[in-house]
Amino acid sequence: MTGPDLKALIEAVAKVVIAHADELTDLDQAIGDGDHGVNMKRGFEAVLSDLDQITAKPIGEALKAAGMQLVMKVGGASGPLYGTLFMGLGKAWPETLDQASFATAFGEAIDAVKARGKSEAGQKTMLDVLIPVQVALAAGGDFDTICDTAETAAEATIPMQATKGRASFLGERSVGHMDPGARSSQLIINAVCEALT
Ligand code: ADP
Ligand code: MG
Repeated sequence: MTGPDLKALIEAVAKVVIAHADELTDLDQAIGDGDHGVNMKRGFEAVLSDLDQITAKPIGEALKAAGMQLVMKVGGASGPLYGTLFMGLGKAWPETLDQASFATAFGEAIDAVKARGKSEAGQKTMLDVLIPVQVALAAGGDFDTICDTAETAAEATIPMQATKGRASFLGERSVGHMDPGARSSQLIINAVCEALT
């Protein structure tokens, strides 16, 4: 991937997240403290304002730099977790890029998120989208499959009861709402698929 491609890709992701800030905030209002949209908007605006510097770097370093911005600017629980995801992906970025090597790198980044969040699948978090998407990637799924997997996975968080993060304080009352972090992960994955097709 060349510099201009990377720039277009990160820009597409940032714009989609920013455009859905109100929706993410509404989701977080239902089962959290209503800041996920604002948090993500602030973080991705910081990434956009630093985009030229970020994308002047080789892709692995660029992902680490974007992750640093997210850690510093998003805040909340999701800032360090998304920061870890992007930094982890940058760290694990394969020398020879193909779907299998990308899936492996993405898996390592998810492992870093799990370690950071002391979390796993089935707790009604962003991991409930990221993990199935990684599995679909590793199985060789095409862009449509990846997008569908992300959408189905985000919807599957609706009936879950949260056992991690702020939503877990609600106990059974967390059931019946989509997890905001699952939705933001889906939006990011969708934007990547769309930008690459
Ligand atoms: P906060 O919960 O601090 O207000 P945000 O609202 O920005 O932070 O982000 C909430 C989202 O972060 C949740 O919807 C969930 O997807 C994700 N999240 C929270 N805690 C964890 C965790 N320990 N592991 C994975 N994801 C988490
Ligand atoms: Mg919140």
